[in-house]
Amino acid sequence: MAGRPGYVTLPIISVLAAIGYVYYTTVFLAIPAWLGLATAAGVANAAAYTALALACVATYGLAITRDPGRVPPAFVPDVEDAQTPIHEIKRKGGDLRYCQKCSHYKPPRAHHCRVCKRCILRMDHHCIWINNCVGHENYKIFLVFVLYVATASLYSMILIIGAAVHSAPKDEQSGSDSPRSSIIICGVILCPILLSTSILLGWHVYLILHNKTTIEYHEGVRAMWLAEKAGNLYHHPYDLGFYHNTVSVLGPNILCWLCPVSRNTGNGIRFRTSYDIPLSTSAFKKEEHLSMS
Ligand SMILES: [Zn+2]
Ligand SMILES: [Zn+2]
Repeated sequence: MAGRPGYVTLPIISVLAAIGYVYYTTVFLAIPAWLGLATAAGVANAAAYTALALACVATYGLAITRDPGRVPPAFVPDVEDAQTPIHEIKRKGGDLRYCQKCSHYKPPRAHHCRVCKRCILRMDHHCIWINNCVGHENYKIFLVFVLYVATASLYSMILIIGAAVHSAPKDEQSGSDSPRSSIIICGVILCPILLSTSILLGWHVYLILHNKTTIEYHEGVRAMWLAEKAGNLYHHPYDLGFYHNTVSVLGPNILCWLCPVSRNTGNGIRFRTSYDIPLSTSAFKKEEHLSMS
């Protein structure tokens, strides 16, 4: 069922159909039933909702088509670099991270995806809803898409509840084909969509604040358990504090944090760790130099 990335699959068609169905019900049934499409409030809400729906479709398209991040063919771990913490590039036994399937070294935080059949930079997870991996290059777009869908679902729910409350059923019109019934059915379908996107959004806000990927969260649970057993304390190496974590994922400009066009920071190959703190100017310069080269 899972098609190769770049192909349109059944889950993608389902998402687009759901967006179309909810959009139609909200704009052409709920808003007319509550506010009327000829009123200023009706037009304003229809316009705002249309803009949000278009933003959902646009970011969805970008999340599907944007490459999640490839390992450069010439990538070789910099073992001589004194600033690279050794735990990042070495695994148990001291081996460098190497992908047997791709026959190349893996940068820190890169993982091999069995569906994409290649290594993905700062891989988070493979998402069937976009038929693509969520990695360093499209993580922010994926996040903004989830935010837009959660916001649109909430907005739609408010308009649907308003329409259901304000358009009291008339006895002669209370059949199953009345607009009110269609609006209520759409509201029921929206419940799991609103709940799941809100939980997903909250989960990724948690991950961003701790500078973790979904894979690293699961690895961390195990590492913490092993460290506790050995009487040590486990610390996630990329956790730089809430602010620096958010900046490293969403970019330095707070006004662009939710903007889908701006890229996140870094090259996806080298990441600042808590071992680099205090963040001296020279460390920043070195980082910039490395990401440009
Ligand atoms: Zn690989
Ligand atoms: Zn994948």
